[in-house]
Amino acid sequence: MALGRKGNRDSYSTSMKRFSLLFTPQRLFVFFLGIILVPNIFLCFTEPLPALFKGAYILIPGALYLLLLNLSRRPGIIFLALLPLHFVGAVQLVLLYLFGHSIIASDMYLNIFTTNSGEALELLNKLAPAVIGVLLLYLPALILAVCSIRRSERVSPQFRKRTFILAMLMLGSGAALYHSAHRQVPQKARLDNLYPINAFNNARFAIESWKASQQYRESSRDFDYRASSTRESQQPEVYILVIGETSRAANWGLYGYDRNTTPRLCARPEIIRFDDVLTPINATHKSVPLMLCAAGATDFRQIYRQKSLITAFGQAGFRTAFLSNQRHNGSFTEFFADEADCSRYLAPTPSNAHPYDEDLLPLLDSLLNSGAKKQFIVLHTYGSHFNYDERYGLDCRVFTPDRIDKIDRKNRLAMTNAYDNSIVATDRLLYQIIERLARTGHTAAMLYLSDHGEDLLDDDRNRFLHASPRPTYYQLHVPCILWFSPQYIRRYPHDERQARANHATPFDSRAVFHTLLAIGGITTDYRNDRFSLISPSFQPGERYYLGERNTPVPVRLIPFDAEDRLAFERHGVALR
Ligand SMILES: [Zn+2]
Repeated sequence: MALGRKGNRDSYSTSMKRFSLLFTPQRLFVFFLGIILVPNIFLCFTEPLPALFKGAYILIPGALYLLLLNLSRRPGIIFLALLPLHFVGAVQLVLLYLFGHSIIASDMYLNIFTTNSGEALELLNKLAPAVIGVLLLYLPALILAVCSIRRSERVSPQFRKRTFILAMLMLGSGAALYHSAHRQVPQKARLDNLYPINAFNNARFAIESWKASQQYRESSRDFDYRASSTRESQQPEVYILVIGETSRAANWGLYGYDRNTTPRLCARPEIIRFDDVLTPINATHKSVPLMLCAAGATDFRQIYRQKSLITAFGQAGFRTAFLSNQRHNGSFTEFFADEADCSRYLAPTPSNAHPYDEDLLPLLDSLLNSGAKKQFIVLHTYGSHFNYDERYGLDCRVFTPDRIDKIDRKNRLAMTNAYDNSIVATDRLLYQIIERLARTGHTAAMLYLSDHGEDLLDDDRNRFLHASPRPTYYQLHVPCILWFSPQYIRRYPHDERQARANHATPFDSRAVFHTLLAIGGITTDYRNDRFSLISPSFQPGERYYLGERNTPVPVRLIPFDAEDRLAFERHGVALR
């Protein structure tokens, strides 16, 4: 036994010797520096940076990393202490794999926190190559850092001195390059555009936004619409807002897609289709709340003190309901849903982790049969969210094959088939809602708008999903339809005519709030008929996109790729 222990000790010390010879503290130092710099190197290729700034993009952070690693004679300690930096680096690299460019946006951090775990796992599964790649990059380095700390060897004083001089030289030349680049292109060559400063600033903004949203109940407590109804109290009315998910106009038969994915809606000429509608933001946790309140891309901060459309309808004497096929996620959507007299979320069943949107219909039926005279109902669907083939039942499986194990161009047809089938399911859902409303014989209307679109490997860029830091045509152009019951049209024929006349006017989801208040005959100081589709004064003006850190950017100034500009033109959508 004693011999055995000695043998083990010998082989342990031999392997430690080998480790020491191979991974000297100096070599590890250089290796750690290389690993930390990987995101900067990738970003130099993916970001449209001025040439001189690219030099500064490596030299300045490189010099700072050198100085940091130099703080200890055991560089492994510093490398481990920089764990938050490696985490951000790993997320940044996965996002580069996903979108091909851009710094992690503050919304990306928020999406991580407002996406339910099932959704995140679905996505992680498809991002496996990138996730494996970053694990292979960072894990061995972290393991080496831990092992190196336990050893007695240190970097030599001479090495530290030389590194310090090198860092100073790099910093000096980086600063010179930065200075020249900043003089040439001051808006792009900025210090806060250097990675990781930009990524950490965005993270800080995300945390501040998150905190502000968590204080929302307090900051909006005294808000009052002072809303009232102009309608007779005995007149039964029911208005439904259906919020679509990830449905893009380009794949709707109703919008000229070469597959008829919306046969039921196409067969109803009374439906008013709005051709040129953009979402002001490509992420659910912002686009949905922006439909529901008076804030827009130009005054987003108003959202922290206002309540939603649901409260306005409630004050005007409507019974309000929010039915959701999405999960609680702590975003404004949930805060607004809580304003309703009744808010219900579909629960997963053993057979289906995510219920179909059609499962909302029995809940809708019980509301419509409740005897309430005036009702305002919001349906928050899961529409065409990834994984597409889990969004519909067999009866909507029109396009096959529709099963894929991996997202790539080889599987594009099956992926598109699945996506198109999810639109077929939306078509069926909207048709059934309209049928139900028609059967009530009430003054009724249904407005549908999708929260944003989706990229589906549409061109050589191989863009996929949504919520990318830089949007595409496919993420922004959303379907929007309006339906009035015959009773509504009889009472308010001008409204229907006006909406039809506005069908080609470019607008964004800001119209939802003001149009629904107008349809419901609700007066409040917050209603602005400039954004109401049924108003003769409908004049929504220039469209804005909610950019990084909630900065409004005119749509015409978004740096779209040539592919998107062509797609906007092809689909007759205005870049303004
Ligand atoms: Zn969404």
